[in-house]
Amino acid sequence: MLLSSILKSNGAASAASIPFEACRVTDPPKLSRFGFLPRSVCVGIIPYYTPACDGPRTVSAYAVPRDYHIFVRAAAERIADDFGAAFPGERIRVCGDNSPIDEADAAARAGLGVIGRNRLLITPEHSSFVFIFEAFSTLPPEREAVEPGRCLDCGRCAEACPAAFGDPEGCLSALTQTKGELSPGQEELIRRNRSVWGCDVCQLVCPYTERARRNGTLYSTDPWFLEDNIACPDPELIRDGQRFRERAYSWRGPGPILRNLALLGEGGGKE
Ligand code: SF4
Ligand code: SF4
Repeated sequence: MLLSSILKSNGAASAASIPFEACRVTDPPKLSRFGFLPRSVCVGIIPYYTPACDGPRTVSAYAVPRDYHIFVRAAAERIADDFGAAFPGERIRVCGDNSPIDEADAAARAGLGVIGRNRLLITPEHSSFVFIFEAFSTLPPEREAVEPGRCLDCGRCAEACPAAFGDPEGCLSALTQTKGELSPGQEELIRRNRSVWGCDVCQLVCPYTERARRNGTLYSTDPWFLEDNIACPDPELIRDGQRFRERAYSWRGPGPILRNLALLGEGGGKE
């Protein structure tokens, strides 16, 4: 039994395990809270783009299904159970979007894809519309790490970007998540792009996305991601505590998304 097989049987479309020391640690305190030093990192990939993302939508594709963190929490429990049964005495910790390492870099070093000009991981099969998660463990790695590859560098993403490409603070995605008042220029950017949460422009124009679409491998096949898709949330959803908590934008509270909805003329306003 391989740890990568355990990840694949619990939702990962692909997975690969590399030495921990090949990864770039970005949050040492988080790592020290594991209580053990990992020998390896098994990186898993989950495609999340669904057919509902192709219709009208005002949120980023990752926010159309329910919150991915709910999926990863449940998968992490199953992985820990399977791991405990297969490798008694070994240690494991599963992270998704809350990792002590640079996840895209680790995935590229594991040979699961390349790094795009937009700094995202791009996988050959599913493009950049993938979530990344990792299982840190005391098991030896299953393969050597490789040098991270780079994308085609065609420049389409930079040309199509509606904001300031390469400036994380000027990115429309970041802007939709900020709290408080926006400048008139920032408000206009949200209105013009009709986005209340996130931005996918640089991903949608990427040739890897076009190829995945042509090959029929762009879409998630996991029923969890295909159920309960909401492409255009309304103020009623945002104010419904139970339903709101299941969405990927809930971590920021209702304020930013209600403000953005109001900018699009859809109720909302300040909370
Ligand atoms: S659009 Fe071109 S430059 Fe941008 S990430 Fe894709 S391949 Fe790279
Ligand atoms: S997410 Fe949107 S605003 Fe941000 S870099 Fe990509 S295209 Fe530009």
